[in-house]
Amino acid sequence: MSVLTNQESGQLREVLRIEQLRLVQSAKDGLAYSMNRDRNIGRDSGDEAMEEELFSTELRLRDREKGLLYKINCAIDRLTAGTINACEDCSEPIGFRRLVARPVTTLCISCKEDREREEAASASASGLRGDDAIGSSSESQSSLPDE
Ligand SMILES: [Zn+2]
Repeated sequence: MSVLTNQESGQLREVLRIEQLRLVQSAKDGLAYSMNRDRNIGRDSGDEAMEEELFSTELRLRDREKGLLYKINCAIDRLTAGTINACEDCSEPIGFRRLVARPVTTLCISCKEDREREEAASASASGLRGDDAIGSSSESQSSLPDE
């Protein structure tokens, strides 16, 4: 397994920390939204169905963020342990450019492609895209080519 240089792991740590802060901040925004909603309860019962729908959308979003935050924490652990660039399927090194673009990934590009083919075959209707959810946010869209 190839080892990341100090500069490379420092850069990855920075990417992960920025993403972590962004998620914590948006979780706080979600909390403020919930508190505003609580203050409005009882004022107007006519829009309850709509409110309920908005609220559950917002909860789903925070579940997704919670999952992402967990993945980021795991990636930071792997970075600390020196295993962040080891593919969990084949143990081959994950390319550094891929790690910077998708720091929560645990698969090298060829295992990732294998898994995406399997996922596409088994769950084509779900619209989910594997475990690389960081790249799906427009704010953190990398300018690197997507291999
Ligand atoms: Zn692999």
